[in-house]
Amino acid sequence: MGIVLIWSLVMILTRWISHKRRGAISYDSENQTALYIRMLDVRVRSQVGFEPEPRGSHPYLYVDFRTLHSRPQSAGPVSARNVRRLLSFQRYLHSSRFIRGIPASNPLGYILDDDYTGQAKLMLEKVGNWNFDMFLFDRLTNGNSLVNLTFHLFNSYGLIELFQLDMVKLRRFLVMIQEDYRSLNPYHNAVHAADVTQAMYCYLQEPKLAETMTSCDLLLGLLAAATHDLDHPGVNQPFLIKTNHYLAALYKNSSVLENHHWKSAVGLLRESALLSHLPTEDRLNMEERLGSLILATDISRQNNYLSEFRTHLDKRDLCLTNGRHRHFILQIALKCADICNPCRPWKLSKLWSEKVTEEFFHQGDIERKHHLEVTPLCDRQSNSVANIQIGFMTYVVEPLFVEWSRFSDTRLSQTMMGHLSLNKQGWKEGRDKQEANTSRASEEQRTSAAKDSNSKELPQGSKRS
Ligand SMILES: [Zn+2]
Repeated sequence: MGIVLIWSLVMILTRWISHKRRGAISYDSENQTALYIRMLDVRVRSQVGFEPEPRGSHPYLYVDFRTLHSRPQSAGPVSARNVRRLLSFQRYLHSSRFIRGIPASNPLGYILDDDYTGQAKLMLEKVGNWNFDMFLFDRLTNGNSLVNLTFHLFNSYGLIELFQLDMVKLRRFLVMIQEDYRSLNPYHNAVHAADVTQAMYCYLQEPKLAETMTSCDLLLGLLAAATHDLDHPGVNQPFLIKTNHYLAALYKNSSVLENHHWKSAVGLLRESALLSHLPTEDRLNMEERLGSLILATDISRQNNYLSEFRTHLDKRDLCLTNGRHRHFILQIALKCADICNPCRPWKLSKLWSEKVTEEFFHQGDIERKHHLEVTPLCDRQSNSVANIQIGFMTYVVEPLFVEWSRFSDTRLSQTMMGHLSLNKQGWKEGRDKQEANTSRASEEQRTSAAKDSNSKELPQGSKRS
C-alpha cells in the first residue's frame, strides 16, 4: 500500500513538472519557433550529400555544401558548428561572461576586452577611412571583425541608447551573425560582411546621406550590410536551382540566396530578442525593410535598380526627405558596398578578387566532378582572375559607380573611381603579360616539337649536318 502511494505521488509530481515545463516552453513561443526552425535547418542539412538514387519522380541531386570548401583539417568543425547551433543558449552564457565586471561607462570594452589590441582600437578610430584594411582588422580581433566593427558603429551612432538596445542581446545577436557566416567560404564569409558594413558606413557618412538619414535608416543600413550574405553556401543561385536544392524550391527559384540571407537574419533577430521591446508593428516593418534592402543585392536585378537610379538622376527628382527615396538610396548604397572591392586600393582589391575567384572555381570543380554543365565564370580551365575581374568591373561595377558618383559627387567617389580605373588597368596589364608569356611558351613548344620531328625524320645512322 505504501509503495503504491509513493508511486502515485511520484507520478503526480512528474506530471506537474512536465506541465510546468510545457508552460515554460509556450511562454516565449516566438523564440521557440525560431529555435525550432534553426534545429530543423540542422536536421535538413545533416541529410544532404550526393545521393545517386532519384527521389520520387524527380532526380534530386543533393550537394553537401558543408564540404564544398573543406580543407583536410576541417572535417571535425562541421558537427561542432551544428552542435553550437543547437546549443545556442551557450552563446548567451558566453556573452554574460564577457560583460562580467566591465564598467557601464565604456560600452566598447564589453566586447573588445579579450580580443582587443591597441592597433585594433587605432583602426576603429579611422573606421571611415576608405583604405581600411579589413583583413588586418580581422587578424587583430582574432577573427571577430564583424562583431567588433558593427558594435563599434552602433555605439558611435548612439543607436544602442536611441533604440534602448540590450547590450547582452546585441552582443549575442552579433556573435550569432558572425558564427552563421561560413568561415570555410573563401569569399562569402564574415570578413566580407564586415568589409561591406565598413563600406556602408563610409557611404552613410557622405554629406547627402548624413544630413538626411534617420536613426532607423542608419540602424537598418548597418544591419542589412552585416547580414546581407548570412549563411551563404559558397555557390550561386543557378547552382542551387540545377541541383534541386531545397532552398531553390523554398524560394521558387527567385532571389534564392538573398531570401535565405534575409530570413536567416530575421530568425536571429527573433532568437536574440534584440528588438523584442519594440511595438510589434514597428518590428515587423523593420524586418520588411531589412528584407527589401538585402533583396536589392541580388545581382540579377542590377539593371532594374540601375535604370531607376539613372532616371531619378536625369529627372533630378530624388528628395531625401521622402522616406521612399531614402530607402531607395539605402538600397543603392548597399549594392555599391557589396561590389565595391574593385574600388579599393590595389593591394586589398587584388586579395578580394583572388578570394572570390577561388570560390567561383571551386564551384566549377564541383560541377565538373559531378558531370554538371560548368558555369563559364567558374571554369578554371577557360578563365582567369584577370578576365573575370575586367568583365565584372566593366559590366557591373563601373555602370553603378558612375551613377553613384553623379548622385554623390564627393572626394570619396573620386577616390573610388580612381582606384577602379587603376585596378582595371592593373588587371589588363597582368592579363597582357600572361598572354604574351603563354604565346611565347607555346611558340617555343612548337619550335621544339618541329625540331624533334625533323630529327626523327633523319634516317637511322645518318649524320646530322
Ligand atoms: Zn556580399
